[in-house]
Amino acid sequence: MPPTRTVKDYIRTIVDFPHEGIMFRDVTTLFADPRGFRMAIDQMLNPYAGMEIDMVVGLEARGFILGGAIAHQLSVGFVPVRKKGKLPGAVISEDYQLEYGEAVVEIHDDAIEAGDKVLLVDDLLATGGTAEAGIKLIERLGGEIVGCAFIVDLPELGGRKRIEALGMDVHTLCE
Ligand code: 5GP
Repeated sequence: MPPTRTVKDYIRTIVDFPHEGIMFRDVTTLFADPRGFRMAIDQMLNPYAGMEIDMVVGLEARGFILGGAIAHQLSVGFVPVRKKGKLPGAVISEDYQLEYGEAVVEIHDDAIEAGDKVLLVDDLLATGGTAEAGIKLIERLGGEIVGCAFIVDLPELGGRKRIEALGMDVHTLCE
């Protein structure tokens, strides 16, 4: 019997992308494989079985692919957090720090109702800046975050600790 492949086995590393010195963890190879993709979705959902979840919020852009599949699996709706200027309706915004400079993410101001139970998803947790901005947007609209699920954790960048320090449950599939 060949050894069973894990989620991590489907992820490839691209050296020097998007610039020199960065090892980019490329999940497109995981998404492209039917077994890998299903395994990732199932494992992201594992800890939340039986819990009440009203909607899934996904972070641009790979969080949309995961979030859409997860929302479909849960039979709930999907809400995108997008980069500045992409959403057509009225939005609220959060700024956050990047390695060089700043970024802004937005959510439609009517996308979540107070008390909605939200699962936040993205592909990868690095410094946690993007996830923290998403959490702030959801909480400003009154959403209650049930959990934050990612495929990859890069522990040396401190994202998990940062998000856990906000009182969040963080679920990741591999490092
Ligand atoms: P953070 O805000 O935690 O520093 O960075 C996480 C965000 O950047 C996520 O939205 C993630 O998609 C993206 N990101 C940063 N580095 C990588 C990487 O190596 N691979 C992938 N797939 N995404 C990354």
